[in-house]
This record gives sequence, C-alpha cells and structure tokens, in this order.
Amino acid sequence: MIKKENFHTHSIYCDGKDTPEEMVLSAIEKGFTDLGFSGHAYIDDFECDWAMTAENSRKYISEINDLKIKYRDKINIYCGTELDYFCTDVPGKYDFTIGSVHYLNMGGEYQAIDYSLNEQQKAADKYFGGSLIDYAVEYYRITGDVLNKLNADIIGHFDLVTKFNEGQCAFDTGDKRYVNAWHDAVDALIPYNKPFEINTGAISRGYRKSPYPALDIAEYIHSKGGYFILTSDCHDKNKLDCYFAEAEKEYSKFEIIKFSEILNK
Ligand SMILES: [Zn+2]
Ligand SMILES: [Zn+2]
Repeated sequence: MIKKENFHTHSIYCDGKDTPEEMVLSAIEKGFTDLGFSGHAYIDDFECDWAMTAENSRKYISEINDLKIKYRDKINIYCGTELDYFCTDVPGKYDFTIGSVHYLNMGGEYQAIDYSLNEQQKAADKYFGGSLIDYAVEYYRITGDVLNKLNADIIGHFDLVTKFNEGQCAFDTGDKRYVNAWHDAVDALIPYNKPFEINTGAISRGYRKSPYPALDIAEYIHSKGGYFILTSDCHDKNKLDCYFAEAEKEYSKFEIIKFSEILNK
C-alpha cells in the first residue's frame, strides 16, 4: 500500500480551524495511513495567540492519545508538536517535534516573521537600516541553529522568510548575501541528518504559489545529502493534502521519504 501521511497538522488547540477529531475523519476520508498532529508548543516568554497555552497542551496530548486508540483500526495517529526557536515547552512527552523559526529576537524584542510584509519591513527599518536582505540574513542565522537549540526531528518551513516574497516582490533572492546566508544555514543543519519539510501550507492559505523551500534551496540541500518529507502545515481539514500531487512532481528529483517509516523504525 502506498502510504499517505501528514506530520504537520494544527487544530483548534492552537491556530487551526478544526477539532483534532474532524482532522482525523478528513484524513481517513482522504485515504491517509498516518496523521501527525503538531500543535504549536507553548511559549511563555511573550504574548502569543497562535500557540497552545500550558493548560491546552495537557488537554491536547490527552485528546490526541484518546483518538489514537479510537481510530487505531483506521489510521495511525501521532501526537507531536511544532516548537518555535524561542519556545520553552519541554518536548519529552511528544511522539515527534518540528523545529521552526517564527520570530527574530532583536534586543529582547520579538519580531514575527510570518504575520505580514508590513511587519517584516517595520522590523527591517528598525533594526537593519531598511534592508530585508539583512533581516533575512538574521533569520537564517537563527534557522541554522534550530536543531542545536531544539533537538527537533523535522526542520520546519526552512525559508519561511520568503512567505510574502511571491514573484520577488519584496527582495531579490538572488542577492549574494541572501544566498550565502541560507547556504550557511543548510550547512549547519545537514550534519543532524533530519528531514527538511517540503511544506505546502502557504499555498493553501493563498500566500504563495510554490512550497517551501524554493527549488534552488532544495537542490542545494539535496547536493549536500539532505532529504525531505512532504507536509501541508494544515490548519483546515479540507486542505490536508493541498498541493501534494504537484509538489511530488516538482520535487521528484529529490529524496522524499515517509516520516512514519522513520518514526516506526
Ligand atoms: Zn510554523
Ligand atoms: Zn505549522
């Protein structure tokens, strides 16, 4: 049987639209064999409306574990979490973790990467003399350290900083300093031998026309011996396999593995 899976799934416990059970039922209907939940881990350093609260984290784990049993004849369910670089949750109780960077920390002030281009530009103006390239360089400096800091199992949306850069509308990804920055981040992450996501989440939400990471980045990761898993960073039960067929074609020359096979080893 060909496995169909997603290991980046949000629910109403964080910023997703649907309950975990609605997600499970949709996954079963779509023929998934494995579904990994990845609620945004609790962050206690600053106000954060999209992550789980400490109390919600406990309820989340308990509910996902109940669903594992309830649906065990139909689908394999895993209780994971998406850790932010700056989060303080202890990941020991999860089946797997995704390591992601959603913020820059500039002099103690947290700057959201993925809210809007306006937010990015405001931070670039305040801290980088208006340069979104320098802002991106700082993003990759942190991203290159994400596995060292979090010891995660999956590298989340590697080039999230390009979320609002469709058609190069905000900055030039051919800029040498930009390229050097992501090269350095890939080089730092490769020795950990963890999968990079091919993440279609921004497509389903209308921000981008192609998955993370960009093809030239994927090419470089591949050339260094890196490999991938396909995820939909799903916040909506109807989008669980959004752009999967297209991404499998576009990234077909790279090694895309099933994460369930790593987990079940
Ligand atoms: Zn994320
Ligand atoms: Zn996510």
